[in-house]
Amino acid sequence: MTQNQQQNAPYAVPGDALHDKVILITGAGDGIGRQAAITFAEYGARLVLLSRTKTKLEQLADTIEKNGHPRPMLCPLDMLEATRRDYHNIARKIEEEYNGLDGLLHSAGQLGEIVPFEEITETAFDELIQVNVKAQLMLTQSLLPLLHTSDNGRVVFTSSTVGHAGRALWGGYAISKFATEGMMQVLADELKETRIRVNAINPGATRTKMRAKAKPEEDPRTLKTPLDIMPLYLYLMSEESEAINGQCLDAQPK
Ligand code: NDP
Repeated sequence: MTQNQQQNAPYAVPGDALHDKVILITGAGDGIGRQAAITFAEYGARLVLLSRTKTKLEQLADTIEKNGHPRPMLCPLDMLEATRRDYHNIARKIEEEYNGLDGLLHSAGQLGEIVPFEEITETAFDELIQVNVKAQLMLTQSLLPLLHTSDNGRVVFTSSTVGHAGRALWGGYAISKFATEGMMQVLADELKETRIRVNAINPGATRTKMRAKAKPEEDPRTLKTPLDIMPLYLYLMSEESEAINGQCLDAQPK
């Protein structure tokens, strides 16, 4: 068994683990969210894809269709500008099209600037909190009534290593990810008596545009790809993770 297989073994799920589950993925246009869309479709999910750039979503929908899966519902939306009304509209469309929702993966996120604490501007901080925290809160609130109709509702947030251990220069981003983990824990505790499970994933260093922006000096070939870390995403989205609630799991444990 390779090191990668060993690491992913506890998260193995059957090939039909997401059969007919309706799952919304944010940040589906690129990076980890994009891979999650392709992988979840392969495991049987029907998808709602939300992201900022419409053309990327359309190309992804073409790819998923070419792979032989149903064309996803597309929700191009800039979460920096979006309001509660936008999220309610998405919930209404999902109800009309699918009559319910089984999973919500929050993968959209912005990095902001890597700068010393004194140099964090109010505008940059507000943007990070809006996209990485407040938008997720509002979207989750709008979708909860639909998630409650599922026999196995799943909400998965995306944190970071700097979401539970602060690090110099990662200010606004790290603070927003601490908030994400707090939000996940509050919601998980509130829903613990229901059929919904709420958790977070720390992807670890992964070969995407965001990582390249954060660490331009790094050789991306040394990093795990989004595909490598999918087993944990599948596991937390599937019924296999029934016993897990309120946790942030590492996709690349040390
Ligand atoms: P990418 O930058 O590759 O992809 C992020 C996606 O989120 C893009 O599709 C982007 O849209 C979308 N997005 C960003 N801002 C908005 C917005 N305002 N409204 C709507 N959509 C938006 O990032 P990753 O895939 O690397 O990151 C995914 C998640 O994982 C993030 O939450 C990140 O913080 C977290 N993470 C990543 C790590 C890594 O090493 N890659 C490590 C730890 C955590 P568009 O396509 O238009 O750019």
